[in-house]
Amino acid sequence: MKTILFDGELKLVDSGLEGDYPVLAVGICGTDISMIKGSYKPRKFPLVLGHEFSLEVDGKIKTSEINIVDWTCYYCRKGMYTHCSNRKAIGIDLDGAMRERISLPSYLLHNGTGSPITSAVVEPMAAVLRMVELLRVSPEEEALVLGDGPLGIMSALVLSRLGLHVELKGRNKERLRVAMDMGLQVTNSPSSYDIVIEATGGNAVEEALSHVKPMGKIGLKSTHGMDVKLNQTKVAVEEITLIGSRCGPFYLWDKAASLAKELHVEDMIRVYPLPRFRDAFRDVMERKVVKAVLDMERK
Ligand SMILES: [Zn+2]
Repeated sequence: MKTILFDGELKLVDSGLEGDYPVLAVGICGTDISMIKGSYKPRKFPLVLGHEFSLEVDGKIKTSEINIVDWTCYYCRKGMYTHCSNRKAIGIDLDGAMRERISLPSYLLHNGTGSPITSAVVEPMAAVLRMVELLRVSPEEEALVLGDGPLGIMSALVLSRLGLHVELKGRNKERLRVAMDMGLQVTNSPSSYDIVIEATGGNAVEEALSHVKPMGKIGLKSTHGMDVKLNQTKVAVEEITLIGSRCGPFYLWDKAASLAKELHVEDMIRVYPLPRFRDAFRDVMERKVVKAVLDMERK
């Protein structure tokens, strides 16, 4: 079947892979870009990328969690299965979804938004909801989101929906235009906030720290694989909370799908037919789009 293989370069190949379900659409994530650039090491190589996707199961559009787990280890038994000791992530440890068909355990599958394209961003939306859950936000708080990529924009949309005053800071004019068109308030000169989300995909922890109030919280969402500098003294004396978060667990997926629909995430998506995958990756790397989604059915 047609497969986008990463073996140091991205190639469209006819792989010998098989699968039970047709893949409908696949999003390109910052983690994919970090793996291509080499800062985030894939644990299988060569690798089929793709961990944000929609697929068709029994005539229905579904989305999928990304962690294949053992259900028996300490973490799984405590209900923390996204931290399973034997966790294998689709598109990172195992071949991902950038191919025509895929087989998956049924426990990973959830209902989509009704659209194959927006269903491909339910996974990152669930990850945003996981972060918001861990941050324990309340509507009277003020938040700054650093980053004009999909996680930044979706974080800002969700926090606004929850009633917080939210400002978003980014660098890219085209992406900021999309954010503003989606109703978000953009700032160039942030002040200080109860909550700062670091979703730049780069090294912006110090910047986040410079804008958080004493006793404030920083949500760390970038997974670029680089080491970063941190003023630990400021964290200590100002009693700052740093909160990391990863994928959304199963109980957040239905909410993620309905929010993806309500918040019109299609407004931040550009769709590329599969044969134009190189354009899609290039546009993401050059930050010309907020979110690129490959339509696997359009030839
Ligand atoms: Zn486990």
